Amino acid sequence: MTASAQTLKEFNLRLTAGREQVLDLFLNADHALAHSDVETGLGPDHDRVTVYRTLRTFLDAGLLHKVLDDEGGTKYALCREKCADGHHHHDHVHFKCETCGQTTCLDEVRIPAVSLPDGYNRKEMNLLIQGVCQECNG
Ligand SMILES: [Zn+2]
Ligand SMILES: [Zn+2]
Ligand SMILES: [Zn+2]
Repeated sequence: MTASAQTLKEFNLRLTAGREQVLDLFLNADHALAHSDVETGLGPDHDRVTVYRTLRTFLDAGLLHKVLDDEGGTKYALCREKCADGHHHHDHVHFKCETCGQTTCLDEVRIPAVSLPDGYNRKEMNLLIQGVCQECNG
């Protein structure tokens, strides 16, 4: 069984060729992927609606999490932590490289604790740091 098939099974998701292909792209990438990156990765022979639904399913299942990119863009990345159904609990930093344009999960870098004024309930916290990545620096 392929790694992607194995993962789909672990998350109790039905195996389809499309889901396996999309998951493969994420397993083989070391950075977050935008919707358009997924479409490019799949080649010309794919259905846009299916890609959209697949990403939605993976998000809901706790397989992928959203990465807020600069300029209001959204990317997706694999959840390295164990995320349950619909409950993502990430507090790692995302890094956007202005040289290569890639956004990476810095899983080991935690967003520092932030205390909110009374009456504000935190649901999600996102921190995007922009600069030059390790690879482009090296
Ligand atoms: Zn997650
Ligand atoms: Zn870079
Ligand atoms: Zn992340």
